[in-house]
Amino acid sequence: MLLNEKESTIYMDHNATTPLHPEVLDAMMPFLEEYQGNPSSIHQAGRETRCAIEDARGIVADFIGAELDDEIIFTSGGTEADNLAIKGFEAANDNLHYIVTSKIEHPAVLRPYESIKRRLHNVIYLEVDWSGMINVSKLLFLKDTVSFCSLMHANNETGNIQPIHEAAKICEKCGIILHVDAVQSFGKIPLLVGDLGADMLSISGHKIYGPKGIGALYVRRGLKIAPLLQGGHQERDLRAGTENVPAIVGFGKAVQIAKRDMGQESERISSLRDNLMTGIAENIKDIIFNTDYSSCLPNTVNVSFLDVESDVALLMLDQHGIQASNGSACESGSIQPSHVLKAMGRSDEVARGAIRFSLGKENTQEHIDYLLEVLPGIISAIREDSQDARIRASNLSNR
Ligand code: PLP
Repeated sequence: MLLNEKESTIYMDHNATTPLHPEVLDAMMPFLEEYQGNPSSIHQAGRETRCAIEDARGIVADFIGAELDDEIIFTSGGTEADNLAIKGFEAANDNLHYIVTSKIEHPAVLRPYESIKRRLHNVIYLEVDWSGMINVSKLLFLKDTVSFCSLMHANNETGNIQPIHEAAKICEKCGIILHVDAVQSFGKIPLLVGDLGADMLSISGHKIYGPKGIGALYVRRGLKIAPLLQGGHQERDLRAGTENVPAIVGFGKAVQIAKRDMGQESERISSLRDNLMTGIAENIKDIIFNTDYSSCLPNTVNVSFLDVESDVALLMLDQHGIQASNGSACESGSIQPSHVLKAMGRSDEVARGAIRFSLGKENTQEHIDYLLEVLPGIISAIREDSQDARIRASNLSNR
């Protein structure tokens, strides 16, 4: 039974996606109902939508501290922004020697690297330590080569914030171009491209209460990349196709809201996160936190429950109205242990027992209390079950 009868579910999967903010919907509606012109048309209807796009571009540019609005290229989301940065840079630079990334990147980075790997063999995957931090010092070996590096700012599964400043310093010293996948940190923690030292930066709308299917790539002025999509001259010739005006407007609004609310929200949510971590540690034994408390997003807790299959626990949580996630991809019908947790040195068993709770605007202390009320029972029921199964198996083998 949920505490509050009005609520049928408690959503704790905000790193997967966030609900659309009502103010975002309000901002988008006129561009679905009234303002319908093609932004490339020179008549008034076109000028109205063009204006709306440029306003949104200005809002995004200002929020991340870009020097020029033109440094923002709207894309269909974080995945396209990552692909454009990686494949676009490779296509525009014939003399590229090394391309570097880490073992804990999102598939939107790992997959483009795999496809480049078929042509260019000098691909380096940086290792991570037990706490989930990327070892960026290896970048120093790439001095005096034309190289490119793509690293994530915060990991989507663990919430761990990576040493991007340190990586950027090395990249600057060694002349390496740095792309930062900031899809998970954008809107959750302060982020300025200049401070971070990023030459390119990927962001996405649906992680910050904006619409799905919209994002952007920041490309530092003067940096050459090739487009993935060719056609019209939209987005400075870097992303052809008539712009998704309602989504761009909604993205701009979501960024405005993030700018207004981020400080307060991050304090509130991190205190919920702290209570959740303490509650889990105090009430459930045999756990390993995969989130490094000393450097993590305010909203994410990733924890492995030993002797537990997380998909079973997630289904049981769902039956109690709590929606959370694990980092595992379901491939060919079998649950694969998370590549992120494996890279952090966790065994298959520990990785399979991982659950990610990612909190957001709607979550309250009542939600945390309710979760802490049901979670210990769910975990012990699963453990008892697997112990019984082991006893049955051993009895059978002893016969
Ligand atoms: N990069 C990271 C770190 C992500 O977490 C995600 C989505 O979860 C993406 C890229 C892809 O973003 P999108 O869903 O907007 O394509």
